[in-house]
Order: sequence, then C-alpha cells, then structure tokens
Amino acid sequence: MHKRWIRSISSSKKKTKKKTCNEFEEFWKNSYTQYIHGIPTVFYKSELSKKQRHDRLDPVLLYDDSTYNPATKVRFVCTSDTHNLTERFTKPVPYGDVLLHAGDFTQEGEMCQVEQFSEWLESLPHRIKIVIAGNHDLTLDAGRFPQNHIRDAFIGRLQRSCIYLEDSTAIINGIKIYGTPWIPEYNGKWGFELKREDECSAKWREIPSDTDILLSHTPPVGHGDRCADSSRAGCVNLLQQVQLRIKPQYQVFGHVQEDSGITTDGQTIFINAAMCNEKMKPVLDPVVFDMDKKSEEMLLVSSTSQWNALTNV
Ligand SMILES: [Zn+2]
Repeated sequence: MHKRWIRSISSSKKKTKKKTCNEFEEFWKNSYTQYIHGIPTVFYKSELSKKQRHDRLDPVLLYDDSTYNPATKVRFVCTSDTHNLTERFTKPVPYGDVLLHAGDFTQEGEMCQVEQFSEWLESLPHRIKIVIAGNHDLTLDAGRFPQNHIRDAFIGRLQRSCIYLEDSTAIINGIKIYGTPWIPEYNGKWGFELKREDECSAKWREIPSDTDILLSHTPPVGHGDRCADSSRAGCVNLLQQVQLRIKPQYQVFGHVQEDSGITTDGQTIFINAAMCNEKMKPVLDPVVFDMDKKSEEMLLVSSTSQWNALTNV
C-alpha cells in the first residue's frame, strides 16, 4: 500500500499538491504566530506535532529494482555527514546514476581533509556527483574566508568531475536539484550560519519554486531534526517555504546525525542522509530513491563556468 502511495506522489505531483495545498496554507495561517517565530522546539511541541503528519518511511519503499530502467529512471544515492571517515565504511556505497552529498564532508574544512574527500568522491563510480557544503566545511564559506585558497582549490578540483552547488541549480534529465549549505545559527563559530527568521527566510526565498529535489544541509523543523536531548534543531522558516511554495518531491539533508532516516508530511519526502551517527561512527547507510526522467537532456548547471567544465561528464 505504501509503495502505491509513493508512486502516486511521483506520478501525479500536481494532483497531490492540489490536495494538500489548502491543508498547509491553513496550518501556516493559523500557526505561524509571533510567539513561536523561529523557535523550533517550541513550534514543534505547540503546533507541528499536533497538527501535521510526520510519518516515518522504510527506505526500501523509495526504489524498486524490478522496475528500475536507466532509460526511463534516474537513481539517486543520498549521503551526508561523512566527516572524512569514509575509509571506515563497512559497506560499499550503492551504485546509482547520481550521488548526492548534503554537506559536512570534512571535520573543519582543512586542506588535507578537503583533498581526502575529493579523492574518495573521485573513486566512486556514479556518473554524476552533486555536493554541497555544511557548517563543518567552514573554509568554503566565502563570507568568513573571502580570499581562501582552500575554497578555490576545492571547487577547482570538484569541477573536473563533480558539481558543487551553493545556492544554485543542476538539472539532470529534466529533474531540478537546488543545493544550499546554510543552517540556522548554531554558535557563530562554524560556517554558513544564518540568524533564524529574517536571514533564514531571505535565503530560502532564493530557492526556485520549481525545485524537484532540495539538497540542503539543515533539516526543516520536525523532520530528521530531533537532537539527543529531544530538542529540535531544524528550521521553521525552511519548513514554511517548503510546504507553502517550493513543494519539492524530495528534500535531502543531514546535519542532525541523531535523527537519520526518512519521513513525510504527505507532500514531500524528507531524507536525513547522515552516514555518521551521533557518536561520529560511520555506521549508517546511504538512502536510495528513483525518479522518472522528465527529459533526455543529461545535464545542465546554472553556473556557466561549471557547465563548461562539465561537458565531458
Ligand atoms: Zn552540520
């Protein structure tokens, strides 16, 4: 029954959107009060947990080897939060057409860590690899490190074989993937931190409404964002944008390693693809999902320089 439901999301997004649109509009109209602005744990307890679905899904529901055909489908393999521990993986990363990495691929963004990650990425067989940064990859935050040789070297290297997205889009077989590294402020010492409310809202408004897969480092509130002390670290402003405007089929993220797995609100499938657990052990599995191709055009990237560099992919 679940499998049929997942297929109905993929094959008739428009219909699903229409059915859920009023429900989410009603929720935000009635719930997004001044009192709960931006405070994820309060918002979750007072509103979200009582009024919305957040069902957990089994990973095997998102792909089907018996129907997978590379002529008609694109298989995505989701990873995140690998933190330079890829050599300790106990199982190989499953094969797919596109590898997604939702950030925190290093510990602190040092050059040797960036190089180690690049070498691991290049060793993988996936035809296309799409990467965003996370708060641990802090040397890639151009706002904090404006003239930074690590960022330049890393992006230069990645562009030879991979796509690095930073508030930009890649289109694969007509499927639009938007990548963004930002998180709600943690303690001001890491990379890509934004203040909740105004700064977060402004950044999320840049996400195009026709995004099919949203690749973000932070989770939205209520999905894959439960910390070890039961508080919620996700972004209220991001959930609002996702539910009311963007409505992606998938949102892939990491960051909160205590709450990996898959959930849904009935409209979007949320994947916390962290591969290290809360004890920083690389014991979690990547998540695989299939989507129908929308066109035969293999790859377009929103940055001209990246497109030029990737014509041989
Ligand atoms: Zn993180």
